[in-house]
Amino acid sequence: MGKVVEHPVFQRLRSDVGKFNIKGKKLLIPDMAPFGARLLASCLRAFDVDAIVMETYKGLELGKEFTSGKECFPCQVTLGDILYFLRKERARLGSSFDPEKYVYFLPESDGPCRFGMYNKLQRLVLDRFPEFSGVRIAYLTTDDAYSTEGILPPEDASTFRKLGYVATIVADVFDRMTWRVRPYEHKEGITDEFMQIALAAMQKLVEEKGRDLPFDEMLDLVADTAKTVASFMDSHQPRRPRIGIVGEIYLRTHPASNQNLIREIEGFGGEVVDASVAEWINYVSYEGFRKLSRRLRQEWKKGNASNFFSVLRKWLGQTIEIAWQALQQKKVYDRVFPYLDIQPDHAVWTIERHLKRYGLFSFDIGTEAALSIGGAIEYIREGFDGIVNVFPFTCMPSTICSAILKPFLDSLRIPYLDVAYDGSIQPNREVAIRTFMYQAQQHRLQRGNRR
Ligand code: SF4
Repeated sequence: MGKVVEHPVFQRLRSDVGKFNIKGKKLLIPDMAPFGARLLASCLRAFDVDAIVMETYKGLELGKEFTSGKECFPCQVTLGDILYFLRKERARLGSSFDPEKYVYFLPESDGPCRFGMYNKLQRLVLDRFPEFSGVRIAYLTTDDAYSTEGILPPEDASTFRKLGYVATIVADVFDRMTWRVRPYEHKEGITDEFMQIALAAMQKLVEEKGRDLPFDEMLDLVADTAKTVASFMDSHQPRRPRIGIVGEIYLRTHPASNQNLIREIEGFGGEVVDASVAEWINYVSYEGFRKLSRRLRQEWKKGNASNFFSVLRKWLGQTIEIAWQALQQKKVYDRVFPYLDIQPDHAVWTIERHLKRYGLFSFDIGTEAALSIGGAIEYIREGFDGIVNVFPFTCMPSTICSAILKPFLDSLRIPYLDVAYDGSIQPNREVAIRTFMYQAQQHRLQRGNRR
């Protein structure tokens, strides 16, 4: 049989989309959750990676021009971000622009939806520009629970992973402090203004001392921030209806893509909690644990002692990691609670328990639908007055979520709203959100202003 010759396109997908050492390169991070993306860049800078968060949403037209329209909206937005950045950078540097000095960072998931394909598609698009084909694409993947091995030197990978996790929780908590205080602030704009100062202080600390894992100092800064922002609240204002957001992670955390939905809901009288970024990371770790538990049972049945103990070692490692993550998350939130009653995060195993109890969905099917459906149930149990499901137009898991949540919440008489985005401005969206907020207000009144 003759030798199979690999098509050059597939070679490119293998050679220039993957895990390779990013040290010495300028790492280009697409913006997503604003606090989170900036703290991630700071964590990388602590390990001598020249990481920056790219300007976002300015290149949307480019993203749309080089896609067919069938792709998920976040793929178009991030493609637009990288093309806009590279064009601008090339114009700025002229002949000294060297594509090999840059690495574009675009994580992926191992399915079943299209997120695993963004970086491949974007490789094909970048290769259409000879001047950008030298820009490699680096990813982290859910397949190995976002392991940074291969991207950072082995001696840094584990420390970076710990720092990155705690920084993610800090970013989530910064968001939750903002959402808790801003609707009640006594002076308009003071919360956002101060949170930018707090973010800059946290970034400085992480960049200067991140290698030494300065968790105590980071927690002290979180506590100081909570104490200060709590003082911005006007205690005479009555509690507003609380709205829980679930949905696709990029859309719900990227303000430009969701047309500033959180502020819009606040503008119509709500107080918002968006599902956290850590929830997804914890879910990925938990999924790893479930997979290993299944393999452990299989190896036990097969009676192969050597395979069994090899899987058992991995299972123990994963169990320890999950316990460590839960402990760090608790430590960060615990530093805020004395000053501010922010919403605690949902534990992934609790979400799974609710799904089983109500028979609505299964972690065996996976995807963000599991978190969104289970997360919505958690919000209801916590006394929220309405649920918003935010997603890119045609998003597969979010459409499943909508099909299940809508009739379920309707039967409980809980206000529910689907909001799909594709970059277009829909004149009726504001009316839908305004009507939803009226329903949430009525729901709160019927509950008798218990909180
Ligand atoms: S979660 Fe939705 S938007 Fe994201 S890749 Fe999957 S289908 Fe696309």
